[in-house]
Amino acid sequence: MTLSSCPVPLVEQHDLVMLDLDGVVYRGAEPVPHAVAALEQARSGGTRLAYVTNNASRTAATAAEHLTDLGVPEVGPADVVTAAQAVVDLMAADLPHGARVLVVGGPGLLEPLAEAGLQAVRSADDDPVAVVQGFHPDVAWRDLAEATYAVTAGARFYASNLDLTVPTARGVAPGNGSLVGLVSTVTGVDPTVAGKPEPPLLRSTIARCEGSTPLMVGDRLDTDILGAANVGVPSLAVLTGLSDPQMLADAEGVLRPSFVAPDLRGLLVPHPEVTIDGDLARCGSAEARLDGDRVQVRGDDELHRLRAAVALAWACRDGSGRRVRLDGMMAP
Ligand SMILES: [Mg+2]
Repeated sequence: MTLSSCPVPLVEQHDLVMLDLDGVVYRGAEPVPHAVAALEQARSGGTRLAYVTNNASRTAATAAEHLTDLGVPEVGPADVVTAAQAVVDLMAADLPHGARVLVVGGPGLLEPLAEAGLQAVRSADDDPVAVVQGFHPDVAWRDLAEATYAVTAGARFYASNLDLTVPTARGVAPGNGSLVGLVSTVTGVDPTVAGKPEPPLLRSTIARCEGSTPLMVGDRLDTDILGAANVGVPSLAVLTGLSDPQMLADAEGVLRPSFVAPDLRGLLVPHPEVTIDGDLARCGSAEARLDGDRVQVRGDDELHRLRAAVALAWACRDGSGRRVRLDGMMAP
């Protein structure tokens, strides 16, 4: 995989932009720098924006309110797709109308379940035909025990997502994947999963928003970027969350994004082709040169510098297996 180029602003080639939330639009309680203004410009230019999240604890309406509070313009529940909604879409396709489903989770799961005409129950004694598990901070041992009884009795097992951790204000805490792992370990049954990097969440989003040329934007290579590859959609990796330039440089195969940018302003500009000649890569006004095992970059444009450096790193890795260092390269 090499970096893709785009002669016009990225939003002009994509009628739907799907955005991961944490590390892309906000970080905790704060909007990511430049995100709100870039999203406003993309939206007013006619691009459909969809916000996708693996977090199943909140409803789409609650997530939309949070975005509105952060200053994101014109966002309603229809603009947010959660992994909880996507897993309910899967269950609604698999199960008869009115089927009983044991829910391990909160309102984020219960609301779409009711909308889909499925009946939520809380005990394995209610004879559920399926179990669905999504993150909620009130999930307790009793809930997990009911899930194991039901799955052992033959109920189909679904999970919104398998993120092992969830970021909290006090640090990293167990995510849905860790709790699902308990039920899987006890029952020996792995669930059907909707969230990134599995395809259902992005497929549900593309179907709901009727996108014909979608683009996925994310900060995590192993969920957002891999998830886009798994549905055959191009991706943009931004550096405002979990990934840094070195992680981009070290990425291999389907973990490599189609495009890279320091932040969401990368949606609004062309991505010029990178030309590589030996140890030198050029992109627009910038160049990256290999100096020992370190990439040195020059040029005024942050996006061009990043593209040149990442393309050079991938060429080194693919050509000779060399790992090169990009540390400090984002400083002007
Ligand atoms: Mg993220």
